[in-house]
Amino acid sequence: MKRDGTCMSLWQNNIEDYISKTQELPSGIADVMIIGGGITGLSTALQLQKAGKKCVLVEAYNIGFGTTGGTTAHINTVLDTPYTDLIRDFGQEGAQRVADATKDAIALIKNNIEEHQINCDFKIVKGFLFAQNESQSKVLGEILEASRSVGIDANHVPAIPAPIPFEKAIHISHQAQFHPIKYLYGLAEAFEKEGGLLLQHTRVERVEEKGTIHVKTSRGPMEARYAIYATHVPLGVNVLHFRAAPYRSYAIAVKLKSNVYHDAVVYDMYDPYHYYRTQDIDGESYLVAGGNDHKTAHEANAQFCFQNLESHVRKYFDVDSVKFKWSSQYFESIDGLPYIGHLPGNPKSVYVATGYGGNGMVFSHVAALELSEKILNNRSKYKDLFDPSRIKLAGLSNFIKEQADVVAKFLGKWFYVKDLEALADLAPGDAKVVKYEGHSIALHKDDMGNFHAVSPTCTHVHCSVAWNNAERSWDCPCHGARYSFDGKVLTGPASKDLEPIKLKHE
Ligand SMILES: Cc1cc2nc3c(=O)[nH]c(=O)nc-3n(C[C@H](O)[C@H](O)[C@H](O)COP(=O)(O)OP(=O)(O)OC[C@H]3O[C@@H](n4cnc5c(N)ncnc54)[C@H](O)[C@@H]3O)c2cc1C
Repeated sequence: MKRDGTCMSLWQNNIEDYISKTQELPSGIADVMIIGGGITGLSTALQLQKAGKKCVLVEAYNIGFGTTGGTTAHINTVLDTPYTDLIRDFGQEGAQRVADATKDAIALIKNNIEEHQINCDFKIVKGFLFAQNESQSKVLGEILEASRSVGIDANHVPAIPAPIPFEKAIHISHQAQFHPIKYLYGLAEAFEKEGGLLLQHTRVERVEEKGTIHVKTSRGPMEARYAIYATHVPLGVNVLHFRAAPYRSYAIAVKLKSNVYHDAVVYDMYDPYHYYRTQDIDGESYLVAGGNDHKTAHEANAQFCFQNLESHVRKYFDVDSVKFKWSSQYFESIDGLPYIGHLPGNPKSVYVATGYGGNGMVFSHVAALELSEKILNNRSKYKDLFDPSRIKLAGLSNFIKEQADVVAKFLGKWFYVKDLEALADLAPGDAKVVKYEGHSIALHKDDMGNFHAVSPTCTHVHCSVAWNNAERSWDCPCHGARYSFDGKVLTGPASKDLEPIKLKHE
């Protein structure tokens, strides 16, 4: 299956693209249009369809194309934002509500698996968090107390199931893991069986309210009463783009010489943290490890992140070979909680779910529960704790208006390959933004030696893209829009491709 980068994730191996039953655009008005076929879109669509709503899910590529195809699929109750911070920022009651939402989400995942008989290697496992110095040990003790205060079953332990030296460690019961793409495909089948319409290879380009919601797609117009952006980050220009920062994160799946794999999810306490878990696929076990996160396009050589991660893992584990390595993108909210609810600045019938950080398996299901409650009963299940409008930003509307106006600069202009080639001095597979005759040009030389040139100006709000040599994409440092080597949109919030630049050979 295809995903939004050139590296292959563990989950894609031997898996074909999902074939949906729906091929034609539906006529008439749907109750809910869900935009995006990742774990948020599919879990929410299934929930609403089962409750009797007529749903259409629209995916720009194939389902699992986005971050869900590049996740590592731990299902956690102890979140990236520790309960110490949640209690400080949202009070004991708010933190308790987060813990309850997390429990509800895991119950929903289990229920989906049981009810629809989804064979996705779901497993309850032990969780371990370990400290490697005095200050980490102090923080770990505080996290333990805070987690217990919201009902999480955790305790100090003298040993961890990974060969890594540590000072203090805690065990957290009832964590889980699964194969995210098998789960996603199971949700898709269940959604279609319940009568939902699933359209792949259909990009939503614009959403407007004209009494109902009118949606312009790459394959024609559609209409619905409600729309949900399950696109990981909403399209267009919105206050949330300034309140959800894009990060890249790296993962590898390795074989161990000893063939002994631990059966738990294990985390260290660095920032960014490393994690280690086991996944069995087709009779083979793999140690999955991840970390080395950085803000999107803020790392000049993304390949170094893979090298650093691999040497980190080799330091502690008897690695035989690295079988898969991949990177992907997540969005971090400003206060550590996701944005789930009405999309600010849009009609009341337009919703969003984003800003999950590294806890999207659980928060996607919190979104499924919260958005269903909003659409079905006009109520918030979690007392608007996750409401996207909880964060205000003064004076943004003028900025958005100015920045959204994208102007084509290269119209009709040609450039000579030989001039750019001399200037850029690129090895095959490499790319660079070069300055030539007053223009900035994003130039890529593919493995066959062919050149591809596009404007480096992101079509979202005009920031300049940078080359990601790990996934061979042009990434925008501002709001995380990503484009293929030849400028096609891979990841929102942009919905227009980079402007092509015409190259001449003679
Ligand atoms: C390396 C890495 C490891 C992670 N590990 C974990 C983990 O262990 N546990 C955990 O809980 N979370 C983890 N996360 C986070 C989690 O994977 C994500 O939060 C989650 O997958 C997001 O799912 P989503 O459905 O919201 O977005 P996506 O999976 O990105 O889906 C969005 C979909 O929308 C589609 N789309 C976009 N624009 C349009 C458009 N205009 N029209 C139609 N469709 C469109 C995209 O093609 C895409 O398929 C990890 C993240 C990373 C980067």
